[in-house]
Amino acid sequence: MHRRMIGISLSAMLDGIEATVVRVEADVSPGIPQFSIVGLPDSTVNESKLRVRAALRNSGVELPNQRITVNLSPASVRKRGAALDLAIAVAILRASRQVPPELGTGIGFLAELALDGTLLPAEAIVSLSLGMKNAGIKRIIMSSPAEVLVPIPDIYFYSFASLSDVVAVLRNPTQRLTPATIPDFRDGASTLGVDMVDVKGHKDVKRSLLVAAVGRHHALLVGPPGCGKTMLAERFVTILPRLQFSETLEVYAIHQAVGGASIPSATPPVRMPHHSLTVTGMIGGTSLMIPGEVTLAHRGVLIVDELLEFSRKTLESLREPLSNRCVRLHRAGKMTNFPADFQLIGTLNPCPCGQRGYGDCECKEGDVIRYWSKLSGALSDRIQMTIPVERIDTAKRARAGSNEPSSALRTRVEKARTIRSSIVENSEAGLVPKARINGDAKSLLGRASEAWSWSSRAVHSVLDVACSVCALSGNDVITIQDVEEAIALRGQVSASNAPRT
Ligand SMILES: [Zn+2]
Repeated sequence: MHRRMIGISLSAMLDGIEATVVRVEADVSPGIPQFSIVGLPDSTVNESKLRVRAALRNSGVELPNQRITVNLSPASVRKRGAALDLAIAVAILRASRQVPPELGTGIGFLAELALDGTLLPAEAIVSLSLGMKNAGIKRIIMSSPAEVLVPIPDIYFYSFASLSDVVAVLRNPTQRLTPATIPDFRDGASTLGVDMVDVKGHKDVKRSLLVAAVGRHHALLVGPPGCGKTMLAERFVTILPRLQFSETLEVYAIHQAVGGASIPSATPPVRMPHHSLTVTGMIGGTSLMIPGEVTLAHRGVLIVDELLEFSRKTLESLREPLSNRCVRLHRAGKMTNFPADFQLIGTLNPCPCGQRGYGDCECKEGDVIRYWSKLSGALSDRIQMTIPVERIDTAKRARAGSNEPSSALRTRVEKARTIRSSIVENSEAGLVPKARINGDAKSLLGRASEAWSWSSRAVHSVLDVACSVCALSGNDVITIQDVEEAIALRGQVSASNAPRT
């Protein structure tokens, strides 16, 4: 019997937007010299044999002239990405006792190898590192520029230039590693290039958008073509408070995983897909588990411009994320959850010609009903606010006076959110207002609910918006005015309630 030698190392790969920790086992045993990788490697991982072999040789390490088998686990997941290279090289070095196998076993390795042994940055390093952190790995050897890194609590990055540097460290038990210096997170925000100050007039619309921002209420902007609803929707994000650090990290990891974010930013993400978007494009999917627009808009805003131009199927696919703030995707019998806690801002015309309620509408009644019916009851029930946007003529615009810049509006939203958090409480059953509601307000809500036969979801939704209105005015008791404004904002988006001329 020959003594078998095993070496183990840890790395990670992306599976969709989440990282899975990969355990690399190398076995070096006598036999015809060959090098094989098992455990569902895809072609990039298979090619790592060539990179690892050349990198080891060029780092002054001879590959044992024996049979090398590398096993990647968990076996059930297809292994992708060149970031496993370094871990594969380390496992072989440990198996062949060229470095002591017991040193640094808790360290994760995330780097691609160049043929000359240089370490190259792993893609999506933040997502991969978060996955390692979740698996209890706190120290990561890598080679990524500091600007793509963010300080992750309890994670230490160690940056190396070459495989031979890593080998030197792994051979030396007394060497103390110094973590890479990552600059403190700086908000790369205010690069949006747009501001609410650009929009003249529309005082009432802006007020309603403030309410929407305070409670993250889903809202529709309804108005004739050219009224400025898209312009307002695009600027909505500028009045939203900055993300907290943990949220920034979460958003950055998602966007880095799809190759979309170069630097972390505390500005909430905004997505504005084209109306030709498919269901897969909206909620994600395919065999590679690519996230959809709802996940890319996580913690931010999903603008659905010209909402009724989207296919009914695509719109219906929004129901689940609007209710659950995540999407469940099935692939090969496995279910994956993608986060999708976005705020929907939709824009649409009041009728096919766009003039109903605002000018001379030429549409037939049936056409208008068909037009609105695309927004099914189930979907419109989840949209809490309907905001009418009128076309403003030049004279009105001139009279509009000065506009508040987004920074001032954002300050008001921030203040109101603090108040709101003290008057509402998120419980298992959903949002429960802790605020005192005065008698008049309560009875108005009851009467309205009876008159329009509201579902409990609808009553809840009006109360939710009333809390935001209340917080915006700085009070902690919901009054009849707050409920009135919330009822008016509810609108009633359905075929039977389409705006009339
Ligand atoms: Zn019309």
